Amino acid sequence: MNSLSNQDIKRMVLVVDDEFVNREMLGFIIKRDYNVINAKNGKEALELIRKHKTILSLVLLDLLMPVMDGFAVLKELQNDQELNKIPVIVLTSEKSAEIESLRLGAVDFITKPYDMPEVILARVRRSIELSEGSKMIQNTSHDETTGLLSKDFFFQFCERYDKYYPDEKMDAVAFNINHLSLINEISGRSAGTEIIKKIADAIKVLLNRATGMACRFSDTFYLYMEHNDNCEEILRRFINEFNSLFKNSRTRLVCGVNPIVDKKVDIYRRFDRAMMACNSLKNNYHTNISFYDTELHKKELFEECLVADVDTSLVNKNFIVYYQPKYDISGSRPKLSSAEALIRWNHPEFGMVSPGTFIPLLEENGLVSKLDHFVWQEAASQVRKWRDAYNITVPVSVNLSRIDIYNPKLEENFMKLIEVNGLSTRDIMLEVTESAYTDNSDQIIQVVESLRSRGFFIEMDDFGSGYSSLNMLSELPIDALKLDMKFIKNIATNPKALHMVELMMEIAEFLKVSVVAEGVETEEQCRLLKDLKCKIIQGFYFSKPLPPEEFKLLIEKEAKARGSEAKEIEYVNC
Ligand code: C2E
Ligand code: MG
Ligand code: MG
Repeated sequence: MNSLSNQDIKRMVLVVDDEFVNREMLGFIIKRDYNVINAKNGKEALELIRKHKTILSLVLLDLLMPVMDGFAVLKELQNDQELNKIPVIVLTSEKSAEIESLRLGAVDFITKPYDMPEVILARVRRSIELSEGSKMIQNTSHDETTGLLSKDFFFQFCERYDKYYPDEKMDAVAFNINHLSLINEISGRSAGTEIIKKIADAIKVLLNRATGMACRFSDTFYLYMEHNDNCEEILRRFINEFNSLFKNSRTRLVCGVNPIVDKKVDIYRRFDRAMMACNSLKNNYHTNISFYDTELHKKELFEECLVADVDTSLVNKNFIVYYQPKYDISGSRPKLSSAEALIRWNHPEFGMVSPGTFIPLLEENGLVSKLDHFVWQEAASQVRKWRDAYNITVPVSVNLSRIDIYNPKLEENFMKLIEVNGLSTRDIMLEVTESAYTDNSDQIIQVVESLRSRGFFIEMDDFGSGYSSLNMLSELPIDALKLDMKFIKNIATNPKALHMVELMMEIAEFLKVSVVAEGVETEEQCRLLKDLKCKIIQGFYFSKPLPPEEFKLLIEKEAKARGSEAKEIEYVNC
């Protein structure tokens, strides 16, 4: 049987040039491999492109032509969702024209005169392959919402641009809209989309004045542009204009710049660096622009070391799980009710590294799942050991990272841990941070609901730091709210802070869930919380997080107290 393979099909290529000789020459070079059709100006070309859009593989486009020039053709194609998928190689000899056409969506150039037929053929072949390959991956070279490039194409273009202009100084710029989700939440998704479009349009205007290209994905924009000594001023003005438009105080446009990129570093990393500068602004509201500099470079190297050392540190037991007690203060004496497992990293080179440093880092590359699983295993086996030694069950809550929620085996893993250690689902409690609910409420609700139906107790961690609406809260499957410690901090000195906590207690009562106050450091705070009928307290007032061998002293003390309180319940849960 004789079947046609993909390679056997002679693809159609359109040659557009006003000069007969040029058309003939190009046709002559490629006609053995391609089915060539011709147009002598932009208008004719567009007619042919529209006619053959489903089978046309490539356009070779001259720029200077009568009736309608190549730029006009590129613009028409760029604004058409279907036609912008057809790759265009521009036929030119001028650098400035090349850059402009790259920005308008051309994928490559062929320089006149056509004296290197093999090179021309190779470029034609490569562009078609690239376009067919990426069509398979993502079906479009442009972001539909904004008309900017898609991320994959953007990186391809940047690389190609560098090949042509290796000595050009370039800046990698990243823009991020911090807390865009707030706008989606308050004013609806379309309002968020409108903002994305407005920023994209302004970026297009910016690029009309500078040489460069841009892409958009999610709430982030990347620009790769020729270095400009005034870039800080230009970008600052750009950002400020937008930030004056945002009505809520948290949403803002921020910008990270990796100036005069090091071209020995690959293109992805150049933008990781711009993004790193951008992320460094997260808790800094004094400025909206940051540059990748030696300090950030050092931080990058430090973080790289940490990421590289996770596996060996797990093997060498440099990770240790600490336990911080939670006390039930509702009765006449505070009773040990449960504990939270908190990871510690005693790094062989850097000493104690805070989870506040390494958890977000490991969350970025998924490694945190491995670590979390280690913590859960340790915690489950610890609950068992304590029960065996003291006949007291101290349930332990463990922290879940956002990405754990996506693990389809999450529930299965927890059930296994319970089974292997002979525990019940009530013995391991799960802490999920509030912002994870706001980021991806549907998925998280489903996963948490299912875990809860198994009997796991779910605590919403850092409550008050995210932006859950009351409406959303009432639908969430949770058993307890853990008040963010920043609310507790000032309750003894600031009546407003105390009032906030009072409001949160009312919310919890309305939702019929219990409350845990964390970060309680003083007797006064503890008393105020007791007056507000807050039942469970965690914080330095009772104890810092402790290694298991020290935590056991608290259990021994509890066991003694219970012994003297005549047959008290053995099992205290929140
Ligand atoms: P978190 O889950 O909200 O944990 C509470 C943090 O508050 C802990 O910080 C704890 O040591 C600290 N803390 C407790 N009481 C007080 C107090 O009275 N005053 C003050 N100032 N701080 C107090 P830590 O251990 O540094 O952990 C920071 C964050 O790192 C945790 O916040 C949690 O989000 C994350 N984390 C820690 N261990 C793990 C883990 O095993 N897995 C995951 N995914 N995240 C973890
Ligand atoms: Mg926690
Ligand atoms: Mg917390």
